[in-house]
Amino acid sequence: MPEGHTVHRLAARHAALFAGDKVQASSPQGRFAEGAALLSGAVLDRTEAYGKHLLHHYDSGQILHVHLGLYGRFADGDGEPPDPVGQVRLRLSSDLHWLDLRGPTACELLDPPEVALLRARLGADPLRADADPDAAYARIRRSPTPLFALLLDQSVVAGTGLIFVTEVLFRAGLPPTTPGRSLTPRQWRGIWADLRELMALAVASGRIDTVRPAHLPEAMGRAPRVDRHGGEVYVYRRAGQPCHVCGTPVLRADLVGRNLFWCSTCQPARSS
Ligand SMILES: [Zn+2]
Repeated sequence: MPEGHTVHRLAARHAALFAGDKVQASSPQGRFAEGAALLSGAVLDRTEAYGKHLLHHYDSGQILHVHLGLYGRFADGDGEPPDPVGQVRLRLSSDLHWLDLRGPTACELLDPPEVALLRARLGADPLRADADPDAAYARIRRSPTPLFALLLDQSVVAGTGLIFVTEVLFRAGLPPTTPGRSLTPRQWRGIWADLRELMALAVASGRIDTVRPAHLPEAMGRAPRVDRHGGEVYVYRRAGQPCHVCGTPVLRADLVGRNLFWCSTCQPARSS
């Protein structure tokens, strides 16, 4: 599933393609035909992302909400749109550009109270200036749940996925199983600042890089990572390989149905 930086990049891209322009909307597949008819002819005012949720605000008062989920994908281009291929849920076009959406978990029109409800069930998004990290910490410090699961819970922190959470815990030197309630305010401030920095970097570059300069391939004289997701990481999907910092083989386990990766030397369990 795309992590929050991808959705923030899409929000910026869609604004660059359509903001200020009248758009025509259709649903070649038919499943969003009613919504597309309501949208068609409106001018896109602005776009934004909350965690993994994308919103388009139109001058007609319509708000388009998209959640890509596991399989959702956007495609776009210039000029006349091509004949629709596959299950295109939503097609937007202006005189200059087109945009296709396939396979989303959610593609719907919301009114402002529904957007307020959506926001209310989402936690703090490190990529938003209006995020409230204190509210997230209030949830974390009351909970016996492992930090790994709390940071993946979109009602605590929004936009984080497996890669950012795995890597930020490594960088903090905390084992993923650390109970939320043992996290000190200072440790939380460090994690929050690190998430903001790493996620902003990913928005800029379009890939997730979490490795400090001293551990880059050039600095260490090692081969760059080869992985579908791109960037340089410390432990994510590196089970059995030596830790870039200490050489200990990276461990893997299951927790809440997700793959957990960590270094037992750099992220030692503490008795508390
Ligand atoms: Zn290590």
